[in-house]
Amino acid sequence: MVHAPPPSGCDDERVGFYRDTGVVLRLQKLGEADRIVTVLTHRHGKVRAVAKGVRRTSSRFGARLEPFGHVDLQLHTGRSLDIVTQVQTIDAFGGDLTGDYPRYTAGCALLETADRLTSEEGEPARELFLLLVGALRGLAGGTRDPYLVLDAFLLRAMVIAGWAPAITECARCGTEGAPYHRRFSVPAGGAVCEPCRPSGAVVPSEPTWRLLEALRDGDWATAEGTDGAARRDTAGLVAAHLQWHLERTLRSLPLVDRRGGVPRVDLAAGTGLEVDEPSDGPPRAGEPAEGAPRRAVPTDGPLRSERVAR
Ligand SMILES: [Zn+2]
Repeated sequence: MVHAPPPSGCDDERVGFYRDTGVVLRLQKLGEADRIVTVLTHRHGKVRAVAKGVRRTSSRFGARLEPFGHVDLQLHTGRSLDIVTQVQTIDAFGGDLTGDYPRYTAGCALLETADRLTSEEGEPARELFLLLVGALRGLAGGTRDPYLVLDAFLLRAMVIAGWAPAITECARCGTEGAPYHRRFSVPAGGAVCEPCRPSGAVVPSEPTWRLLEALRDGDWATAEGTDGAARRDTAGLVAAHLQWHLERTLRSLPLVDRRGGVPRVDLAAGTGLEVDEPSDGPPRAGEPAEGAPRRAVPTDGPLRSERVAR
């Protein structure tokens, strides 16, 4: 059942109740006691609905409508915003995340990305919803590295959005690498072969390529066998690729604390990956001029070799 038929005698055919499951992405205050809750649902895409009275301590379902909550909802179709009439908790992921800063910040990045990737309210986003629930379950379970869970989610969300970075094939000509091409270019769309490589492409290590492929394919055995350097570089490439497509910074992503051997994603300083060409000199076509806001992978970040002697 998607939409229940409107009650008899109702003169507005939009009025009716419907049920769906969803993940609470965001809350906004509304008036004295109400909230607008943004939920990524299983069947109705992203829904913004009014939850009345939930900021009162006596609210029946206020506590169930918190970010990260996986809930079963009954909604009443309204003229502008729908109204939440019942909430039941399926998984209270928030309780498992709020006491653990790395998991919490990774979770915030999951919610924000899901929100940003679903701009058309009401447009079905079933695959993204299922991916989000799986990622939250992985984070809350506490057995997987939260940053690998995050990067796997981001990569697979980009696949769903149609922005999958090329990993084994050249983004420009489609030639397969053996097994990987050497260079990665965010503006080009991922891996690039030698004849196609644009200036400013970075040179990920082979373990980084393997990790990118493993996270995209859900190969956790391979992903969990990688070291901190590959995880850090992969995180930088995934974040840069996502940002290139979103065209503005995800607010929560730079807050992800990469403790435990994996440094945080510092997008302002670039990926730290080796760049195979000097980027001094005038900006090339498609690059921001000096002083312009940066996007994607800057090529003048700190480098490990080749350009150390300046
Ligand atoms: Zn090519």
